[in-house]
Amino acid sequence: MTIDLSGKVALVTGGSRGIGKAVASRLAGAGARVALVDVVDPEQLEATAREIGGGAIAVRANVVDADDVGAAVSQIEEQLGPIDVLVNNAGITRDGLLIRMTEEAWSAVLDVNLKGVFNMTKAVARGMMKRRGGRVVNIASVVGITGNAGQANYSASKAGVIGFTKSVAKELAARNVLVNAVAPGFIDTDMTRALPEAARETLRKLIPLGRLGAAEDVANAVLFLSSDLASYMTGQVVVVDGGMVM
Ligand code: NAP
Repeated sequence: MTIDLSGKVALVTGGSRGIGKAVASRLAGAGARVALVDVVDPEQLEATAREIGGGAIAVRANVVDADDVGAAVSQIEEQLGPIDVLVNNAGITRDGLLIRMTEEAWSAVLDVNLKGVFNMTKAVARGMMKRRGGRVVNIASVVGITGNAGQANYSASKAGVIGFTKSVAKELAARNVLVNAVAPGFIDTDMTRALPEAARETLRKLIPLGRLGAAEDVANAVLFLSSDLASYMTGQVVVVDGGMVM
């Protein structure tokens, strides 16, 4: 059985690069019409949409801003039709030890990583419920399960995403809207390339499969959860980390 998302519309936040771009490519490759939602400059986002192909469109919106999100969802539904799959992928880090962490660094991370997921999910959930079907896939992180020194804000946001995923899965299950999370481990993207090489090497040694993950490794799990193959899964956290957390 192959995964066929022809006729489906998917919205991917933070789709301009990294994991979001890989997810958008995978979903488009399976036949979905994809909308990339990002704060990045419109020209770069358009270029990514063209690269992904399959009629992908680019919509500029900040997931933190509920009005922006509402306008983006309306625009996408006008251009592509009702949204079948929402992938909440936009995320940021502002690392630092707790005693040095500013309130601004705390709030910025919680806003994008958790409030952004709330804003987006709320904006698409009503339509999915009315249509008696939909998929939401939230990108969490293994540190939302294990915690990580220097990432109190980020880990709290991702633990929050996991709690949100399970709660909303329970609320929406009766309407056949399935809500799951993917928790990546250490994935080779701009986010982790910002780490010093020594830190990357230390982390790599903690991975039983002996390599950093690729964005496509995460995208494959998202594709599965977006497909009919996952129609009996909701409220789950699928860990994609080369065996780092078990
Ligand atoms: P990335 O390369 O830094 O990309 C993050 C994306 O999110 C960018 O496209 C960025 O847009 C977008 N974004 C940031 N703030 C936004 C906002 N307010 N509204 C809309 N879009 C926004 O990161 P990544 O590594 O691909 O991470 C993607 C997701 O996976 C994140 O949720 C991250 O926490 C999670 N994750 C990553 C790893 C890892 O090892 N890389 C591990 C676990 C979880 P701009 O281009 O405009 O900045």
